[in-house]
Amino acid sequence: MLEIKNLHARIAEDGTEIIRGLNLTVKPGEIAAIMGPNGSGKSTLSYILSGREDYEVTEGDITYNGESILELDPAERASKGIFLAFQYPVEIPGVATMQFLKVAMNEQRKARGEAELTTPDFMRRVKEAAEGLKIDPAMLRRPLNVGFSGGEKKRAEILQMALLEPTLCILDETDSGLDIDALKIVADGVNALRSPDRAVIVITHYQRLLDYIVPDTVHVLYKGQIIRTGDKELAHELEANGYADVIGTAA
Ligand code: ADP
Ligand code: MG
Ligand code: MG
Repeated sequence: MLEIKNLHARIAEDGTEIIRGLNLTVKPGEIAAIMGPNGSGKSTLSYILSGREDYEVTEGDITYNGESILELDPAERASKGIFLAFQYPVEIPGVATMQFLKVAMNEQRKARGEAELTTPDFMRRVKEAAEGLKIDPAMLRRPLNVGFSGGEKKRAEILQMALLEPTLCILDETDSGLDIDALKIVADGVNALRSPDRAVIVITHYQRLLDYIVPDTVHVLYKGQIIRTGDKELAHELEANGYADVIGTAA
């Protein structure tokens, strides 16, 4: 489904190479965790996957369902089903969350050549998804993320993810300091989306999130490369021993 081959990428502004020959394969139905010490390039990788312009790919390729996505802009990637949950969600003053969701869903439908949702159909879908995530309908009338608590931001993010029905979800949870409640919201949302034709990449610094979202594969990213791949036991090993052993064998 997702195939990253010998990826090298740098910061556009100053040319610093951050991703240095990264290889990664994610199959349909798989939940892949990417772990690694701070500063390894985890967030950078998620930005590159989303198509952010501040990074330049200098070598290698990223293919999604067999096609290179390097030339696609973020909206085109989204229309192909790639969803990135931002580590720092944007506040959109003046736009009710409900309205934001409607625009996002209809833009995606338009890009896929599908008809706009009728208002009753949209309302039904939002209501169902919001109930599943225990979202208070009053929250949906407030401007997106403005004054939202950490848990409400997470719920709003997972709601967007559920409604956009992506085929590849990338969640970067590294530095967001999630408390247990927020961890559970994210985990429940991701677990509800598990399906044979959908893949999820969970980027996290901490093993704790992986107690709630049990990954099929665990990859360690260090200095812009995947230096170790294993199953969920690898996450426990890292929790117990830290990164030093894994990094030591790679150095
Ligand atoms: P992680 O998410 O694994 O903690 P990041 O991807 O945030 O790591 O960062 C990897 C490295 O790249 C860090 O040394 C960081 O300082 C640097 N970096 C990433 N993006 C930028 C940028 N836009 N400008 C300067 N340095 C950056
Ligand atoms: Mg970091
Ligand atoms: Mg990060």
